[in-house]
Amino acid sequence: MSVLSRPYFHNEQAAFDFVEAIIWPKGPVCSHCGCTGRISAIKPNPEKRVRYGLKKCGDCKGQFTVRMGTIFEESKLPMTKWLQAIFLMTASKKGVSAHQLHRTLEVTYKTAWFLAHRIREAMRSGDLDPFGRGGATVEVDETFIGRDPDATPSKTGKGFHHKMKVVSLIERESGRAWSSTSATATAPRSAWTTPRAPPARCKAPLGSG
Ligand SMILES: [Zn+2]
Repeated sequence: MSVLSRPYFHNEQAAFDFVEAIIWPKGPVCSHCGCTGRISAIKPNPEKRVRYGLKKCGDCKGQFTVRMGTIFEESKLPMTKWLQAIFLMTASKKGVSAHQLHRTLEVTYKTAWFLAHRIREAMRSGDLDPFGRGGATVEVDETFIGRDPDATPSKTGKGFHHKMKVVSLIERESGRAWSSTSATATAPRSAWTTPRAPPARCKAPLGSG
């Protein structure tokens, strides 16, 4: 047995259980309304495209998985591959390139690049907390500065398309900021969403935040 033989690296359900225990230590929290307590698990059924980890909220009737609001959001890649990638990138002192991930995980280079980018982004900010968690206010602004080295030269020299696009997010309460030099960079999608604060209409008491 070794670290690599742990079930969450090989079994999709075990991988979801592992991630859920980290993100929801006090039990599932609805990603839509923030309610807890009346959440039921929907049995995965790959034939009917019922995803692993799918939950239904008894308060807002919304469906969600633990991926929402995390670096795993909007990714169809199995959770086992995500955990393998995180392990490789965090266990290696010298870091792991996207090419190495591509070869080791047997995923396309595009997928490997996406994984590496998101995991590095999460490591850089020091936590996995998405912007706006718990109903915090997130301000978004964009500007154009300098010249984008990848832009095609403009015939007229007018407009903004040749300039470097910078997008910044600031969480008002904590002052935490995130910037990217391109609007198309793979920012954690969660950073763009501001979950509503846990509402008073939850039918079950809030056990966790
Ligand atoms: Zn809900």
